[in-house]
Amino acid sequence: MKIRFWGVRGSFPVSSPNVSRYGGNTPCVEVETGQGVIVIDAGTGIRGFGKSLLERSGKHFDLLLSHAHWDHIQGFPHCELLYRDDVTVTVHGLHHPRRTLASILEGQQQEPFHPVPLHELGASIDFVEHEDGDTFEIAGARVTCRRLNHPGVAGGFRIEYGDRAFAYICDTDLNGEHLLATDLPGVDEPGADPAAWLRRLRQSACDLGHSADLAVCDTFFLPEEYDPDWGHSRVDDFLGLAAEVGFGTMCLFHHRPSRSDDELEDIVADCRRRAGRDIQVLAAQEGLQVDL
Ligand SMILES: [Zn+2]
Ligand SMILES: [Zn+2]
Repeated sequence: MKIRFWGVRGSFPVSSPNVSRYGGNTPCVEVETGQGVIVIDAGTGIRGFGKSLLERSGKHFDLLLSHAHWDHIQGFPHCELLYRDDVTVTVHGLHHPRRTLASILEGQQQEPFHPVPLHELGASIDFVEHEDGDTFEIAGARVTCRRLNHPGVAGGFRIEYGDRAFAYICDTDLNGEHLLATDLPGVDEPGADPAAWLRRLRQSACDLGHSADLAVCDTFFLPEEYDPDWGHSRVDDFLGLAAEVGFGTMCLFHHRPSRSDDELEDIVADCRRRAGRDIQVLAAQEGLQVDL
């Protein structure tokens, strides 16, 4: 697998000289297997991906959406590849009990927010909704999706191809004490135990990341910045998980908008000192490619 980072910033895109090395676009990660192209999330980074696939004469990709927060879908209407009628896209996401995946993307392109409605895009777009824990095959790879602890319906992915495993564990509060995920079975019933759901969602993150060669991690917060209502993790939460389940490489991701390049490099250096000897650490950077 070739992993390419097109957008690495969390919450909203930023542009200033002090973020120019790591980049200011919101989440978009490409996974190219020998048999096809998978894209995770459609943040503003998907513009760069779309241009690149056009240059490579690609005509199809599978898009995995972790959730519908705006930083993860806002690039979709601006991906020029989708305006071509010879392109096909299959969009995958977790089933939401009250909204279809199609209606979510239709919503952000309806008048007056965007001049071109979803159904007028040239590309042929299919939607596939998955349940928590589903495993399916795309681009010759085995993909597993699991719910995570984040406001609304949000999840992460594990992609296995050959003997390699890639994990995308973002956005989530890994060790949070507030159950932020909604629409969980049984959670609103009398006598329900939210703590049991929190343990189950953390276990999902463990299962997604178990022995992954590369794990993309939600490291939005430093410990002193942590807010338990946001649904994001601290760098230290993922240092702990990396040791617990054995990542080959821990990749810091969903960088805080205010995080400067210099701060990020200091954080990476500190993580490298504290991570176990077997764990590599890097920060996701626009344009970075990792070969697994
Ligand atoms: Zn996000
Ligand atoms: Zn989010």
